[in-house]
Amino acid sequence: MTSYELSSNKILRWREERLKEGGIASEVDFLLDQAGGLSWSELQKLHMSVKSKYSLHQSLEELEIIWHKYLFQNIPLQYLIGHCSWRDFELEVTSSVLIPRQETELLIDLGLKKIGDQHKGLWVDLGTGSGALAIALARAIPDWEGHAVDCSRDALLLAEKNLKKIAPDKDVIFHLGNWWQPLKPIWGLIDLVLANPPYIPNSLINNLEPLVREHEPHLALDGGEDGLEACREIICGSINTLSSGGWLIIEHHHDQSEKILKMMFEVGLKDLDFEKDLQGIIRFAMGRCP
Ligand code: GLN
Repeated sequence: MTSYELSSNKILRWREERLKEGGIASEVDFLLDQAGGLSWSELQKLHMSVKSKYSLHQSLEELEIIWHKYLFQNIPLQYLIGHCSWRDFELEVTSSVLIPRQETELLIDLGLKKIGDQHKGLWVDLGTGSGALAIALARAIPDWEGHAVDCSRDALLLAEKNLKKIAPDKDVIFHLGNWWQPLKPIWGLIDLVLANPPYIPNSLINNLEPLVREHEPHLALDGGEDGLEACREIICGSINTLSSGGWLIIEHHHDQSEKILKMMFEVGLKDLDFEKDLQGIIRFAMGRCP
């Protein structure tokens, strides 16, 4: 890998220049870290000794091109850099998949908590996108059988690529198709389902910040007229596809908790529960098949 030796003084001046153009410090630092390879602790040291040298994976000119595309064309840094961190691994991301959000990391903890010490079973990640949830599950419960579904071929190819890179010794079966439909052979056998489906009401898509609206796939965001179309399909199908005692855990929009729990109740799921995200917003609903 090419490396560029630069003094901290030069990097700091470059950083200041970029911030004069716009954006905030954490974003420039994210760029320096994720694209330049300058770790957070090295970034802190820059300020202490202006004469020390640091090596970057990309030149400041190259980083500046990325910064300008981000600032002036509203392209998410993660797409420009091509990867992002999620839980304890690094995922490749393209504009075919949603950039995995930090709040979604909690779905894994909730799932693991619900299954307790059940050391064999079958899990499904519905709407896998970059493969984030599937890869985390494959690593956390390697003795379980794992399945991941997406209706986008490009997303599925990327999820497979991410799995091969991050957890080459783990198996996940990838299915192209709509929610439960490609899983017919395992209906009734599924012990844990995690899903982060599209849940933004259609009318709100235009209000999303340009970074999201213009570059992230609407397929992964747009939940139809009331935002609940995908959730409805997932919840309605769950009763015939989960095993007895199997859990469905779903991420939803900030104001959908009541409606989702009502749907879960109406289809006959039991032990209904909800959980907040890191900002204190009720973001997850869960229930299990009787
Ligand atoms: N949490 C995402 C956002 O705020 C939406 C993800 C989704 O629709 N599943 O953009």
